[in-house]
Amino acid sequence: MFRSAYQKTSDYFWGALWLGRAYTQYRVLRMSSTHTKPTVVKHADNFTVTILPALDDNFMYVITDTATKEAAVVDPADPENVKSELDKNGQKLKAILTTHHHWDHACGNGKVQATYPGIQVVGGDERVDSLDHHVKDGDTLMIGTTNVRCIATPCHTKGHICYFVTGKDGETPAVFTGDTLFLCGCGKFFEGTAEQMFENMRKLGSLPEETKVYCGHEYSIQNLKFALSVDADNRHTQQKMQYAKQRREELLPVPPSTIQEEKQYNPFMRVKSVDEMASMREKKNSSK
Ligand SMILES: [Zn+2]
Repeated sequence: MFRSAYQKTSDYFWGALWLGRAYTQYRVLRMSSTHTKPTVVKHADNFTVTILPALDDNFMYVITDTATKEAAVVDPADPENVKSELDKNGQKLKAILTTHHHWDHACGNGKVQATYPGIQVVGGDERVDSLDHHVKDGDTLMIGTTNVRCIATPCHTKGHICYFVTGKDGETPAVFTGDTLFLCGCGKFFEGTAEQMFENMRKLGSLPEETKVYCGHEYSIQNLKFALSVDADNRHTQQKMQYAKQRREELLPVPPSTIQEEKQYNPFMRVKSVDEMASMREKKNSSK
């Protein structure tokens, strides 16, 4: 009799403890971004790119120069997540590279700068939070031995900058495209025209074909769906969709793609005129 009452109490106790733990775990999961597992991409022995999730579907990228362990972070919207990545691997953070001033890209700048005093906040727009190094098209920076070149891509916002990153002799290129170029898509024309986006796609399209493209959001599947709705027989799009579904099932990022791939399936890279760019954007805006 006593034993079974004791057993019951004990069951309740362990049950409550389990529930409590499960709830804590749920809270931690909800608070930190878990839309994508952190993923490291090696650019030979030159630099690595660590892909980190932020907010609902944003990406942050830590670029680490292999020779010196100096690092820059692109759009650190989730400062805690960035800090734990840097603590784990011991990179020396030197700069924040901001693609544009929108909150979901620049909201972490102040906090990251407060945590790592002396780092530079780089961007192309006075509206970028905590900006202290205003760059323009063609400006260059170094992260250790790794080169960074700024590419102005006004349209989504007036001061949008893409960052073209290479090893010291121009090898293993990467481009960080924020909300200008997405995997199989492009950003909305909030502060610009179809003509500007057409020019942006031409500029980015002239980078080396093998350049890896790291964009600002995980929109891959919805973009590929739209691309198939306007170009159903494109086998590059079909193959990329298969790949994207596989990656998302495992909570892995679909980016990076390459400039060559974007030219094969991205409807906004494939338009032949400004008029086509404008009508493609309208189609995309009204698609579900
Ligand atoms: Zn934006």
